Amino acid sequence: MTGKIKVLVAAPIHEDAIKLLRDAGYEVVVREYPSVEELKSIIGEFDVIIVRSKPKVTAEVIEAGKKLKVIARAGVGLDNIDLEAAKRRGIKVINAPAAPTRSVAELVIGLAIAVLRKIAYADRNMREGKWVKKKCLGTELSGKTLGVIGFGRIGREVAKIASKGFNMNILYYDVIRASEDVEKELNAKFSSIDEVIENADIITLHVPLLESTRHLINEERLKKMKSTAILINTSRGGVVDTDALVKALKEGWIAGAGLDVYEEEPLPPDHPLTKLDNVVLTPHIGASTEEAQRRAGLEVAQKIIEYLKNKV
Ligand code: NAD
Repeated sequence: MTGKIKVLVAAPIHEDAIKLLRDAGYEVVVREYPSVEELKSIIGEFDVIIVRSKPKVTAEVIEAGKKLKVIARAGVGLDNIDLEAAKRRGIKVINAPAAPTRSVAELVIGLAIAVLRKIAYADRNMREGKWVKKKCLGTELSGKTLGVIGFGRIGREVAKIASKGFNMNILYYDVIRASEDVEKELNAKFSSIDEVIENADIITLHVPLLESTRHLINEERLKKMKSTAILINTSRGGVVDTDALVKALKEGWIAGAGLDVYEEEPLPPDHPLTKLDNVVLTPHIGASTEEAQRRAGLEVAQKIIEYLKNKV
């Protein structure tokens, strides 16, 4: 490779990642969220483009990127990148799937406690001058059963915090069973999905959204949950049938829910979920921490440097 490697940073990434790229001798140009037209006109001079969930790296942009060798996503999902077009041109696509793991896992615990101790409900009432102490009888995590559906990076991290930090029992379901060592370390018992649904006090979802996981939590499964149980979803909105969940929460099939992701995002302002007191809602903030953003930036920067080093 001749000349200086040029990197287009097309979305905000952590300053430490930019420093790492500059220290590696790359020329880094920061142009946040250019339009497709703008991208098409400038991409020709760059070897690398770094994006987040935006901007879109379309087939046209990839075609215009005559020198392009790497498309990097400082985060997980690759929905905004035309992977087929990148493959056709032999362009490497890099992401940072492990960067948000701890942040999402901590949010799960936060949502669970917020629902079980009615924190958001109490806060809303305090602001209206209401002392709702009598309506805020809660439950502890300790000694309860956590049901983890999808035992990958995030599911295991939640299990680790719950078992080691909160003395919880872990039941999990996944299409792939974890090793005996992992099960022992996390005090986790492999079960069928319906066993998890029927026995857990807190169910937390950590599967990707696929045809096989769309509406995995449907009316039938919500009816099988304990009436005292709560559901936490930080995976993807489509994993839960929202209409069925609203019914379950209204009619008391389950005790509550904590949600970070929705079938429609942003959640429409008048959505029925916003009218329910036994739900805690956050706007898809699982990975929105200083640490996760830094890890995502650094991980892709390191992977870019490593990949291009081997190309020289
Ligand atoms: P991962 O790939 O490490 O784990 C996913 C697990 O789901 C794997 O163990 C896989 O075997 C299992 N799985 C796949 N299909 C299944 C099925 N049909 N039934 C049961 N298990 C199945 O992924 P991860 O990093 O743990 O991420 C989990 C989810 O969290 C994903 O949906 C991801 O999009 C989401 N996520 C959300 C945020 C947020 O901001 N809220 C941030 C990062 C990731």
